[in-house]
Amino acid sequence: MFCTTMRCLRTLKRKEDELVCFCPVHDEKHYNKNAFCVNISKNNWHCLSCGAGGNIVDFVAAMDNVN
Ligand SMILES: [Zn+2]
Repeated sequence: MFCTTMRCLRTLKRKEDELVCFCPVHDEKHYNKNAFCVNISKNNWHCLSCGAGGNIVDFVAAMDNVN
């Protein structure tokens, strides 16, 4: 389920079980690109720019806040 949810993201890089892409939570124009890291095996995520992060539930909640 975690992978399916993350598939909606524009994945730019994939390194083994980790995805790096644009952060869907904050406005990328004001932060570093590719700061959004997703660890598939651990089912968690973290944004190096805005500091958001957590598990799949937190991700869905964050996306709801954006929309
Ligand atoms: Zn972010």
